[in-house]
Order: sequence, then structure tokens, then C-alpha cells
Amino acid sequence: MNYISTRGDRSERGFSEILLEGLAPDGGLYLPTHYPKIDDATLARWRGLSYADLAFEILGLYITDIPAADLRALVQRTYTPQVFGTTQIVPLKPLEAGLNLEALSNGPTLAFKDMAMQLLGNLFEYELKRRGQTLNILGATSGDTGSAAEYAMRGKQGVRVFMLSPNGRMSPFQQAQMFSLQDPNIHNLAIEGVFDDCQDIVKATSNDLAFKRKYRIGTVNSINWARLLAQVVYYFAGYFQATKSNAERVSFTVPSGNFGNICAGHVARMMGLPIHKLVAATNENDVLDEFFRTGTYRVRKGAETYETSSPSMDISKASNFERFVYDLLGRDGARVQKLFKDDVEQTGSFTLSGEEFKRIAGFGFVSGKSTHADRLATIRDTWERFGTMIDTHTADGLKVAREHTDAGVPMIVLETALPAKFAETIREALGRDPVRPAGLEGIESLPKRYTVLPVDAQRVKDYIASHCGEL
Ligand SMILES: *Cc1c(COP(=O)(O)O)cnc(C)c1O
Repeated sequence: MNYISTRGDRSERGFSEILLEGLAPDGGLYLPTHYPKIDDATLARWRGLSYADLAFEILGLYITDIPAADLRALVQRTYTPQVFGTTQIVPLKPLEAGLNLEALSNGPTLAFKDMAMQLLGNLFEYELKRRGQTLNILGATSGDTGSAAEYAMRGKQGVRVFMLSPNGRMSPFQQAQMFSLQDPNIHNLAIEGVFDDCQDIVKATSNDLAFKRKYRIGTVNSINWARLLAQVVYYFAGYFQATKSNAERVSFTVPSGNFGNICAGHVARMMGLPIHKLVAATNENDVLDEFFRTGTYRVRKGAETYETSSPSMDISKASNFERFVYDLLGRDGARVQKLFKDDVEQTGSFTLSGEEFKRIAGFGFVSGKSTHADRLATIRDTWERFGTMIDTHTADGLKVAREHTDAGVPMIVLETALPAKFAETIREALGRDPVRPAGLEGIESLPKRYTVLPVDAQRVKDYIASHCGEL
């Protein structure tokens, strides 16, 4: 299997080549040259597999430049009950007839990003060792991504993490999760500014090509194909749990921000998984809902990007969205280039033609939007009627899922985080603290390891340069 860019550069690269890279050289995103089709017999065989074995089968179709035995061992080391809490790894939790949550948030940082990031940690370690290289991962976080990256890379050979976060602005729980890590290859840099300052420093550092090359700077952001690929697996796992035979179809609702999670659902559907609808749920930052309703994709400005109580969906643009548009437009790289490079970069938006817009239905996509009041009501209702406590992002999903259920088609809502991470809104909704998984009770009082730095890219570079000794 090889990979090409969404913007028309059809030169093919292998999986290991694109694993450690971000954008394709022409500014597009990488996608496989085609989606392998899963026939009935294969789907029937996969139904009986453990999560790790299923992951090996699916990943093996897309990763053909790592020996099968190595890939199998790597996947089996990743998806264990020790790390993800149950033997099913992603158990289905029925709420009412035809409506289920799929639990994706029982990894170390209590959000679904662990599902992909834990695999990425092992893939990076493997590939760097094979090449005899090292990598310094530089990132900015306001919560979920940074902690998932740190828990995936801690103790890994050949990898260091430098994670910038706005000093004092993360929730105490999220801060404790990250800052309590004592692994020498994990560096928490608390920047005396806001999240945007952190992101600007990362950009400035990555744009310094000499520095980037000298210190082998890399990223783990959501456009990484390996992350998306890892997420394809739990769509199959959810389907098998919700159905008895491959004649049945299911729908998925996905609390969405950067479109990475639901894009994995699109890939699963393109492979032939019987998915009826893919429902994109947004919060007040409704870039995606607007697109699926109107055919206009309009990037939001800073002042139009709201801070909400489902913060991991607070986006101004959806960085993986271009992948879906490429498939929607019949893989016409020139057209994608026109829409994303010319139109979005110059005017901030594009609008599909009427004919293009009509094609969306054939891909199963629909959407909906949820507000703070909806979140509170949904958290309360789910707690009172089912005794199940859900987080704010999952609540957005559940609210929108109810608007798109069809008789006879099971709906699966992806649970993207646990309520323990969002205590303030849980207290507002339920008048009590969220339940916390065992082992995390006293996390705020653990010793913290971090360095405070001013909003100054040079100081961050100096820090990196002086902490890049032998690994
Ligand atoms: C990252 C995240 C999302 C959004 O996922 P995308 O892949 O960016 O669409 C939703 N919920 C939670 C809890 C997240 O951490």
C-alpha cells in the first residue's frame, strides 16, 4: 500500500515514509491510493477476533512495509486490558433499545485520543530504532492531545516530548495528569500566556528549518495518517458488538472537531463496513454542521471561535476535513487544491457546486449541533434515566444522535472522554462531582515536574537545545 496527497501530487510513498511526516510536500494530506474492500467472508471471520487481532488485520492492509510478525507484536503490546481496562478494549454500553455508547475513553488519559496515540508511540519507537534515528516531538496543548501524546511516548526509546501548555489555564486534573509524569524523556513547558501563544511558538520553531533539522523536530498532530488509521479499528469493533450478522447496518454519531475521528468512520465505510449514517455532532463551533447543511465550508476567525464546555471540539477549521472532500470530489486533486489552497486561504471559505453537494448523501454524512444548555440537559437526563454519567463531548454526540435515529438501525455514539476530566460542567449539571476511575483519586497532590517559560520562542529553543543529549 502506498500513499498520495489530496492536492494532486500523485508520487507514491510507503507507510514508514509518511509515518513521521506532517503535510505532503504540496500542502495536502496523505491518503492511501485506494481503500481495500472487505468482502463478506472476511467480515464474518473478523467478527470473532479479539480487538488486537482485529487491529492487526486492518492495519496490515495499510502498513505493508513493516514485517507482519513485528506489526502483530506491536499491536498486541498496544491494545491490552492493562492499558484499556477491559478485555473488549472498546465495550458497548447500551442505553436504551437501539442506542449505545461505545467506550473509547478507558485509556491512560481518559479520552479517545489514547486509542490512536498509544499505537503511535509504539510505531514511532519501532521506526526510529529501525532507522537509527531520534525524534523530538514539539507540541502545544490545552488538554487532551498533549496528555495523550505524553502518556504514549513516556519511556519510549529515541523519542522526547516537549509539550507547551498555557501556565495555570488547564483544569487542575488535566495539569496533574501531565505534570505528574516523571519520565526523563517528557518535558512539560508551562508558558506564561494563552494557548494561542503556545501554538505560535510551536509554529515559529517549526518554521526555523535549520533548527528543525538540527534538533530533529517532529509532531504528533491529528493529520497524522497513522492516528486516523488506528481509529478505523473501533468502528469495526463497535459494529460487531451491535449486530449479530453482516446483513445488519448501524449508524455512528461522532462528537467532532478536527474531523479525525469521523474521517476514520468514513474510511471504514469505504472499506465496506455496513454503516448507514455517519453523524457529525458539533458544539457551538459549528463549522462542520454548517458545511453538511449548506455545502459551504467557512473557517472561523479568532473572535468567532467560542470557548465552550466541550473544549476539545472548539475549532476554527477542521484539519482532517480535506481528506473527506478529496473522496467526495472523486479524488480530483486539482479541484481540492482550488478549494483549500486558493479559496480557503484567500477568502476563508468555499462553496460546493449543487451537483457536488448532492453527492454527500451517498457517503452517509449528516450533522447536528449542540449547545451548553443541551449538554447540561443531556448529562442530567442520561444520569437520571440510565444511571450513566457522560462527559460534555459525549453529551453533544448523544443530543445530536437522537435527531438522526432510524427504526431498526442501531445507533452507536462514540464516548470520546470520561466525565472526570470536566468536573466543573458535571457539577453544574448534576450538583455533584464526577466519578473518577480507580487509581486517579489523589492525582492533584502528586509531585509535579514542569518548567515555566515566558512567551518567547528563543527561550523554548534554548530549552530544547540544552535538553537534547543522548537518549
Ligand atoms: C479531540 C476530541 C474530540 C474531537 O475529535 P476530532 O477527531 O478532532 O474530530 C472530541 N471529543 C474529545 C473528548 C476529544 O478529545
